[in-house]
Amino acid sequence: MKDKYNRTVDYLRISVTDRCNLRCFYCMPRDGICKKTHSEILRYEEIVEIVRCGVKLGISKVRITGGEPLIRPGISELIRDIRKIEGIEDISITTNGILLADMVKELKAAGLDRVNISLDSLKPDRYSDITGGGNLDAVLKGISVCLQEGLRPVKINVVLIKGKNDDEVEDFVHLTRVLPVNVRFIELMPIGNASHWFDEHYISVDQIKDRLKGLEPVSTVKGNGPSENFSLPGAPGTVGFISALSHNFCSNCNRIRLTADGKIKPCLNSDMEVDLKPALREGRDDVEKLLRRAVSLKPATHHMTDGKGGSLRDMYQIGG
Ligand code: SAM
Ligand code: SF4
Repeated sequence: MKDKYNRTVDYLRISVTDRCNLRCFYCMPRDGICKKTHSEILRYEEIVEIVRCGVKLGISKVRITGGEPLIRPGISELIRDIRKIEGIEDISITTNGILLADMVKELKAAGLDRVNISLDSLKPDRYSDITGGGNLDAVLKGISVCLQEGLRPVKINVVLIKGKNDDEVEDFVHLTRVLPVNVRFIELMPIGNASHWFDEHYISVDQIKDRLKGLEPVSTVKGNGPSENFSLPGAPGTVGFISALSHNFCSNCNRIRLTADGKIKPCLNSDMEVDLKPALREGRDDVEKLLRRAVSLKPATHHMTDGKGGSLRDMYQIGG
């Protein structure tokens, strides 16, 4: 599918839940969230139907996300059903990794190709502080089981938060010397909770890159999307930088997002949404037609830097 700026859209990110077993301070309000009811959340058959329609229009890659996708029961069955759809070439998941260790085998057997694990600190107390109680050991075990089971690449997403974890950048880079992982530093975005204190905690990837010595450019990371990749000489892993703000990559945007409650978001940072539920549940419209409409609504660029636009949802409700 081409949008009106001639970008090819072949990537669907699917949020399967707005619930989470963590409370990362920049993503979720600590004082509780307003959860969607079960009837508002798409059933797996509905998600599969949307993917089928998407494939007819050129979608070939899907990413399962949330909230925390691994807390939704039956997630492996969803992956298995998506895997059966001819035309799907790549299935990945974004997870906080807490439940991963015990699930990797079944996820892989269901047809999962690769995993992105979010990890903002390598210090147990700080990790717990950032995530509202998360257990770092569980995530590290999840990473290790992914590597043992041969899921490749294993990407580790680190959101850069000035004053919270920017002093750990070198430690994360060091991890690529000992493990074959792709550590990716991601700029904080002024979405949801983060928008309240964004200026205080934002740090650009350029500021981080300037500090790091000895990185050499590489271009061989599967599914590297908007990431600019480097490695240390001889290291088994790589280091990537994703800068949605300082070097916006909208001109290459290839994705649309499906929220857990059945809305297509043409752009992460816009409140524009196309509701698929009337088509799925009442036959009032046609899913393919609505997907085409969503693609046609993709704006040329997000407006995170000029304070215009903005999503009405927090990240846990969009799917990051
Ligand atoms: N729970 C899963 C996880 O944490 O990987 C998947 C959903 S989470 C919303 C997806 C990604 O969005 C995570 O890597 C998280 O760090 C990132 N994220 C959330 N809020 C963000 C923000 N304001 N700026 C940048 N990244 C953010
Ligand atoms: Fe949950 Fe992921 Fe948001 Fe953290 S970033 S609160 S793990 S949805």
